[in-house]
Amino acid sequence: MMIIGLTGGIGSGKTTVARIFELLGIPVYYADDRAKVLMTQDEALVASIKEAFGEKAYLENGELDRKYIANIVFNDPEKLQLLNSFVHPATIRDSLAWAKEQQTPYVLREAALMFETEAFHHVDKVICVYAQQALRIQRVMKRDNVTRNEVLARMHKQIDETIKMKLSDFVIFNNEQQSVIGQVMQLHPKLLDLAKQQ
Ligand code: ATP
Repeated sequence: MMIIGLTGGIGSGKTTVARIFELLGIPVYYADDRAKVLMTQDEALVASIKEAFGEKAYLENGELDRKYIANIVFNDPEKLQLLNSFVHPATIRDSLAWAKEQQTPYVLREAALMFETEAFHHVDKVICVYAQQALRIQRVMKRDNVTRNEVLARMHKQIDETIKMKLSDFVIFNNEQQSVIGQVMQLHPKLLDLAKQQ
């Protein structure tokens, strides 16, 4: 099974691009969404979080107390790193198990953080979705109803777009000048060919 990473900065349009691949029948693993589920359902992950952050990390109904955790990690980069050191490997394990069950020649693994985490080592190729920063800021402000500074704060946690593009095998430009659907339609047969060669 060929696993293709799909990454790009916040607001670049990863999810939008992923949906187009889904229309072509390609299954997509949404790493950030899945990580949230695993934080309440993966027993080993829950145990690690409780051990590091205390029983208070979970509410009585078993849900993660996101406010409690956010308060801790927001003010302490080491704690954030610790949390990530539990969550990222759990998500990678889960995505590999998921990929094995899929029947298509290739699958996508969508994640904002790819080169910043171990995820990069568990995909065969990477597609980067690119849009210039000003456009990404506008999109996220509108989508999430947040301020420019809030978007910038999130962006600063990610590596630079030009570096991401250099590290990727394919780039999809989502700058509202080139057709995204057209680019996906061109890339899809290439990925099918690559999968055949594996
Ligand atoms: P995040 O990293 O925050 O999850 P993302 O990279 O997945 O973001 P999307 O959610 O796909 O980005 O796109 C961000 C916003 O921009 C969405 O509201 C989406 O509908 C809009 N958008 C994306 N691409 C385009 C486009 N080509 N034309 C118009 N709107 C777009």
